[in-house]
Amino acid sequence: MTHDLLLDAYARLTVRSGLNISPGQQLLITAPLDAVPLVRRITEHAYRAGASLVTTIYSDDVTTLARYQHAADDTFDTAQAWLFNGMAEAFKGGAARLAIAGEDPALLSGQDPRKLTRANKARSLAYRPALELITGFAINWCVIAAATPAWAKSVFPELPEAEALERLWRAIFSCTRADLPDPVKAWEEHSAALARRTAFLNERRYAALKYSGPGTDLTLGLADDHVWKGGAGKARNGVICNANIPTEEVFTCPHKDRVDGTVCSTKPLSYQGSLIDGIKVRFEKGRIVEMTAAKGEEAFRSLISTDEGAARLGEVALVPHSSPISASGIIFNNTLFDENAASHIAVGQSYTENIRDGGNRTQDEMAALGANTSLVHVDWMIGSGALDIDGVKADGTSEPLMRKGEWA
Ligand code: ZN
Ligand code: ZN
Repeated sequence: MTHDLLLDAYARLTVRSGLNISPGQQLLITAPLDAVPLVRRITEHAYRAGASLVTTIYSDDVTTLARYQHAADDTFDTAQAWLFNGMAEAFKGGAARLAIAGEDPALLSGQDPRKLTRANKARSLAYRPALELITGFAINWCVIAAATPAWAKSVFPELPEAEALERLWRAIFSCTRADLPDPVKAWEEHSAALARRTAFLNERRYAALKYSGPGTDLTLGLADDHVWKGGAGKARNGVICNANIPTEEVFTCPHKDRVDGTVCSTKPLSYQGSLIDGIKVRFEKGRIVEMTAAKGEEAFRSLISTDEGAARLGEVALVPHSSPISASGIIFNNTLFDENAASHIAVGQSYTENIRDGGNRTQDEMAALGANTSLVHVDWMIGSGALDIDGVKADGTSEPLMRKGEWA
């Protein structure tokens, strides 16, 4: 298939299976400037599916970088609260949300870490009203990616730009199943397989997961009344959508006070323009009490000190080592892809949908069950072909869940 046909299939898949846009619904898109050809196709498919109004907000790496190079030092506590409040208002009014990732994973790596910390904190605070509606699954939303020259260069540094870009696009089309004859049907089947996995885990009612592997010896308690989710889910506006394309994970809510032991990362993490690698942390009663990173240590330290909840876990996800994304052998330096190639954990905010009846509980009730609260939610990868995971029941007995990275 030609690139144009694949791009169109990907756009259609995003609108149909990713967002499942409803007739009359507005759509808010954020995208890198390099994603214009994809955004145009998505917009067309959205209108053909009945969208009432599609609005795109573009970002540009060069202008993002210009701020860190030239803006006055006393401006880094500023964020566009007006924009995020407007986004929250759009979601409250029923708009669907599409985020297109594709920024340079290491754009801000050379910049002053104190400026980054301040800017990220200001942004997280300002973004809160919109993020709450996303983590609370108030509306149908979806995250996808577009290959961009800078991202492609970081994934395939040895290739010329055009070739790297083409390779990354092909990898995206293949990992998202957009290159199959009927991608929408393929996603229905994939989602059904993930639903069988979550049904099994929900029936087992594990109290904890126990991880062992190189550099990892971790007991991770699960929240009381936790619910495993994976694949398509029903937002509170009644629309069934796939929040991530691709997705290979089944995930639930850890108990914020019941994580103990050590764990190390197995893939690099790109967080707000900084590449972080070789993370090692030790948890005590749910909180990270020691941490080092081979690369980007300052960025990771700043992330986990955003607030009290940023040093605790809000998500635990299981992904077999043989997932198609992992099988591609590519390290994407992009969380949407790398988190779906490996089991992972996330520091920060937990998802309402991962607690039974979460949408109807108060914040205090959620906290009592073990759900975490934070301005951030950042996934990082701990899975590999050498990781064993046991499910531990409330009575202390355990059974093998994953062996050498695969379902047992
Ligand atoms: Zn995840
Ligand atoms: Zn996550």
